[in-house]
Amino acid sequence: MKMTKIIFLIFLITSQIIYSQDLIKNILKTVDQVNQELLNITAPSDEEENKIGEQLDKEIMKDKKTVNDYKFQIKIIFDKIKKQTDRKKINYRYSIIKDKDFNAYTIAGGKVYLLTGLIDELEKEEELAFVIAHEIAHNELKHCIKKVQYAAKASEINPLLGNLVQIAYSIYHLPFSKEEELEADKRAVELMKKAGYDKEGAISFFKKLQQKEKQYRKENKTEENDFISTHPNTEERIKKIEKM
Ligand SMILES: [Zn+2]
Repeated sequence: MKMTKIIFLIFLITSQIIYSQDLIKNILKTVDQVNQELLNITAPSDEEENKIGEQLDKEIMKDKKTVNDYKFQIKIIFDKIKKQTDRKKINYRYSIIKDKDFNAYTIAGGKVYLLTGLIDELEKEEELAFVIAHEIAHNELKHCIKKVQYAAKASEINPLLGNLVQIAYSIYHLPFSKEEELEADKRAVELMKKAGYDKEGAISFFKKLQQKEKQYRKENKTEENDFISTHPNTEERIKKIEKM
């Protein structure tokens, strides 16, 4: 082969590589642009909260195993509570996670995670209705999105969707304050009563939680949102609900 022919061939191959790298770069740029949407984190709308929640849920669900309906008619119970909510634009929904912990949690944008380890211990529909109502109450009272707002402000990041999702992911498992828990209990009892459930379900749920707490203390299990937590005191929660 002549030298000029070889040089031409090398040129052709190199330009081909550069071209495909540019193509990949462009594709990544488009993905990035979708993720770089600017949100108003000082006063997020319900739509913006839903957007954060959708992306955050994708991250959370990456390493989770789920089951369809489990032990109770969960969809029916969930829908009964959801019907009583005030934040109609929030995308309230749930997943049942295969996990032995006695726990449940929720994130901004209304997704609720119910763990099979918790459902296994429940006997009555009213008990599960309270758990669902309590998680929904955290979002009715904007506790989840406020946590994201505070964290975003504290870290002084640009309020881009991707950044906010990352921040939300790093804090979603952290417990709420004692005041927020008591506030969520109160709203939950209101929601369950409106949905036609007896508040006794809340009390018997907390009695089951007390039993689990003894076990978790022995195991030195660390605090985790939303029910594996040392505050507030479960006895205090029961007393407050009895007076409602
Ligand atoms: Zn809670």
